[in-house]
Amino acid sequence: MSGAGAGVELVRRDRRRVWHPFTQEHTAPPPLAIARGEGAVLEDLDGERYLDLISSWWVTIHGHAHPAIVAAIARQAATLEQVIFAGCTHAPAVNLADALAARLPGDLERVFYSDDGSTAVEVALKLALQYWANRGEHRTRLLAFAGGYHGDTVGAMSVGRGSGFFGAFEPLMFPVEALPFPATWEGDDAVAAREAAALDALDRALADPGGEVAAVILEPLVQGAGGMAMCRPGFVAALCARARAAGALVIFDEVMTGFGRTGTLFAMEQCAVVPDLVCLSKGLTGGFLPLAATVCREGIYREFLGDTFDRAFTHGHSFTANPLGCAAGLASLELFTREDSLAAVARIERRHRGFLERLADHPRAARPRVRGSILAFDVVAGESGYGAAVGPWLKAFFLDRGLLLRPLGDVVYLLPPFCIGDEQLDRAYAGLLAALDALP
Ligand SMILES: *Cc1c(COP(=O)(O)O)cnc(C)c1O
Repeated sequence: MSGAGAGVELVRRDRRRVWHPFTQEHTAPPPLAIARGEGAVLEDLDGERYLDLISSWWVTIHGHAHPAIVAAIARQAATLEQVIFAGCTHAPAVNLADALAARLPGDLERVFYSDDGSTAVEVALKLALQYWANRGEHRTRLLAFAGGYHGDTVGAMSVGRGSGFFGAFEPLMFPVEALPFPATWEGDDAVAAREAAALDALDRALADPGGEVAAVILEPLVQGAGGMAMCRPGFVAALCARARAAGALVIFDEVMTGFGRTGTLFAMEQCAVVPDLVCLSKGLTGGFLPLAATVCREGIYREFLGDTFDRAFTHGHSFTANPLGCAAGLASLELFTREDSLAAVARIERRHRGFLERLADHPRAARPRVRGSILAFDVVAGESGYGAAVGPWLKAFFLDRGLLLRPLGDVVYLLPPFCIGDEQLDRAYAGLLAALDALP
C-alpha cells in the first residue's frame, strides 16, 4: 500500500519493535521506509526516490530487482528451496562452485559455503588454524592490519580490532597482531616510505620468536569499513611474497572487493597474487540473498582428509549452500558476461577520475582516491574517525537531495551498483560538491 503517510505508519511500528544494525537508536533519524527498488533507484512507501550510491551496504552489483536474478530465484524456489548440505548436494551449489573456481586465478578451487561475510572469515580463520594442526605444526599466531574490518562475529572482530568498532567486546577477543596499512591517495608522494615501514613491521612480526605465524589476513587494495583506505597492488604482492617465504598462509578478505567492485572480478587479479584462502560474500548473489564462500587451494583441503573424523572440518550452518542463494550467484556471474559488467565498472571509474579533477582544488576535500567503482575522499571538518559529527550531517544533507550515502565518519564515498547511469553519477557528484560548499 502506498500513498502519503504509509511510510510514517510503518516507521512508527518499526520504532516500537525493531532494532537496527550499527545505529545509535536514540539519536538516529527515522529509517527510510523502502517499498521497492529498480536499477540504482530505491523508492519509499510515499513515492520518494533515492539514488542508491552505496549499493545497499556494498552488496548490490547489477542493480535492484534485476529480472534475470529474480527469475533464477523464482525458478529455484519452485524446485528446491533448501536441503541439508551435510550428506546431500544439489546442482546450484556444484555449478556455482565450478563457476567460482573457473573465474578465480590459480588453484583456488575448493569451495566451502556459509552465510555472510563474517562467517566466510570465521571459516577461513578456522581452516587456517586446523590446517596447521592437522599437519602437526604448531602455528597459531595471526597477523592483520590496522584499520582492517572483517565482520562482527567474535573471530572476525578479533582480526578486525583495528577498525575500532569493538571496544566493548575486548574480553571475548583472541590476540591478533596488527600491522600498519600503507594507505595512499592521488598525489601522495610519501607512499613508498609508508609501504617500506609496513613491510618492515611484517618482517619483524614474521621473525618474532614468540611462535610461528599461521596466517595473515587482509582486504586487498581497499579497506572498506575502515574508511575506504586504498593501497597499491605492489604492496599486496610484496606482502604475500614475504608471508609465503615465512611459511604463513595468506587470507584475502574479498567480501567487499570481490565481484568487480575494484575494476577486475577479484582485486587479487590486479595484485597478480593468489592467496591460500579467499572470503567472498556481499556481491556473490548480486546482492539478492545472504550467501558466502570461502575458497581455498586444493592443498589446504587435502590436509583435512584422513580416516578419522578428527581431521575433518567441524563447521557448518543450517543454510550452508542454500539453493536459492546459489542460483542467484550463478545468475549474477552470468550477467557479468552478458552485460559486460566490468566495462560498466571501467566507465564508472573513468567518470570518477573526471570528477576527481573537479574535486582537487576544493579546500574541504582531502586524500581523493579511486579504485574501480569506488570513489572516496576525506572531508576536512576538524575531526576524523567513524564518530565524526560531520558524518550524520552529510548523510542528512545528501538524503534531502535524494542521494542515499552513508559516510564513514569524515570519509565520504560512492560505491554504486554497476548499472548506474552517467547522468545519475553526475547528480551524485553535484551533491558531493554542494555538500562540501555547505559544510558548517
Ligand atoms: C562487510 C564485510 C564483512 C562482513 O560481512 P557481513 O556480511 O556483514 O557479515 C567482512 N569483510 C569485509 C571486508 C566486509 O566489507
